[in-house]
Amino acid sequence: MKLTFLGTSAGMPTTERNVTALALAIDDARQWYLVDCGEGTQHQLLRCRYTLNNLKTIFITHVHGDHMYGLPGLITSASMQGRQAPLTICAPDGVRQFVEAALHYADVLELPFSIEFIRSDQSAFHYQDTWVAVTAHQLSHRVPSFAYRFAEKTLSTQLNIQQLTALSVPRGELWGLLQKGQTITLEDGRTILPEQVLQPPPASRVAIIAGDNDKPELLIDALQGSHLLVHEATLTEAALQKAGPVWMHSSARMVAEAAEASGVPNLILTHFSGRYQRSAKAGANSIHALKAEAETYYSGNTGMARDFSTWVVDRDGRLVEAD
Ligand SMILES: [Zn+2]
Repeated sequence: MKLTFLGTSAGMPTTERNVTALALAIDDARQWYLVDCGEGTQHQLLRCRYTLNNLKTIFITHVHGDHMYGLPGLITSASMQGRQAPLTICAPDGVRQFVEAALHYADVLELPFSIEFIRSDQSAFHYQDTWVAVTAHQLSHRVPSFAYRFAEKTLSTQLNIQQLTALSVPRGELWGLLQKGQTITLEDGRTILPEQVLQPPPASRVAIIAGDNDKPELLIDALQGSHLLVHEATLTEAALQKAGPVWMHSSARMVAEAAEASGVPNLILTHFSGRYQRSAKAGANSIHALKAEAETYYSGNTGMARDFSTWVVDRDGRLVEAD
């Protein structure tokens, strides 16, 4: 499971960081997923290996512009590149209306591919395809905002020979069918299900990618069994106290405390206010100050997202920053 941050700034871009977007890929699958699409996301993608043709599904956490203004341009560029595969967009109410209005008034009358919108703010929301199963978890923000929990779907392809022998399944074609996940019927009328004769699948990796939120503790239940939380830390606790609760964001401390309470082993903070700079010389206004605060309250592994930084959750559930 690989994550590349395409934008890590809150509200407005800075010279170091674009507004929010994140690419998620499952190992070597060509398809990838986009979580949020702030303005200029398509420009960021020009510097990555992710192509608009292989983009499988877009997930939008909430309707604020720094999380979705990039959609009309990205969709139009996909069209100009000749994309034909249908595109799914999972998003709360409002995103569909915004995209349709933008395309309509920009005279984009017809796209060469269809867009399926799925409302993620409805309780029955559940997305799945060959590679992932995704659920949405409500957060607390000025507009409905959600976290998406991505659980990798793992397939077992290893046969349990002992079990096949015990069930007297004749070696050959039938073994191949079971390995492909098909149910078979033996000559004596018995039905054998693939799950009876396949080894347990490898452990599934789970990552939660959250939208803007001022109550990270809302995610504690969903974090059970997860390997990674990606969450906004817009300000330090001191700066948040000064700004007041009106913007409904989290401090690094708030996220760290919730992550610690949940037991999730890895945390990546992102969506930093424009005041924070990469250089440690900026003191209280540096990303280092946010990191130090998080590490005071969280004993797991803390990463600070930078634009184009790439992180891998390996098969053992460890988080490693890739080159
Ligand atoms: Zn935001």
